[in-house]
Amino acid sequence: MAKKIPDSMELLVYFTRRKFPGSKGGSVIAWAQRLQCPACKKGLMSKPIDEKKGTFKTRAAEYVCPKCGHSEAKREHEEKLTAQILYTCPFCAKEGEADAPFARKPFYGKKAIVFACAGCGERLGVTKKLSMPEPFLAKIEGRAVRKGADKELEEPDEDDDF
Ligand SMILES: [Zn+2]
Ligand SMILES: [Zn+2]
Repeated sequence: MAKKIPDSMELLVYFTRRKFPGSKGGSVIAWAQRLQCPACKKGLMSKPIDEKKGTFKTRAAEYVCPKCGHSEAKREHEEKLTAQILYTCPFCAKEGEADAPFARKPFYGKKAIVFACAGCGERLGVTKKLSMPEPFLAKIEGRAVRKGADKELEEPDEDDDF
C-alpha cells in the first residue's frame, strides 16, 4: 500500500480515525496535509494559533500563513485540500486507499468527506463524530434505502469542522 499514516500532526490540518457503524466492521483513517502559502511560499497554511493555549483555533473562519500572515477564507482554502484515506469497506470488507476532496459533500443528509470504495463502488463518508447518518447504517445492514439518499443534505448550515 502506497499511503503511509503520518507519524506527526505537524504537517497536517486534519487527522481522524473512525470505525464505521453496523455489524460488518470497517474503518477509515483520513488526513489532509497543510499547503504551502501561495504568497510567500515559505509557510504552511493552517488555522490561526491561539497564543494563550498554544493550540489551533479549529473553529476559525480562515486559514493563515504563520510566516507572512497571508489569509484565505475557510471554504476557499478547503476547496484546495485533499484528504488522504485508508479504509476497510463496511460493505465488501476490501482494504483500499483513496484521495478525496477535503471540502465536505452531502452524504445521507449529513456533511462528509466522501469517497468511493474501489472494490464495490459504494459511496463512503467521514462524517462528524457521533453523527453517522441512520440511512447509511441501514444500507450497511442491507436494509432498503431511498435512491439518491446518499447525495442529499438535510442540514445545510451544519457545522463542518470535524
Ligand atoms: Zn506566507
Ligand atoms: Zn466496498
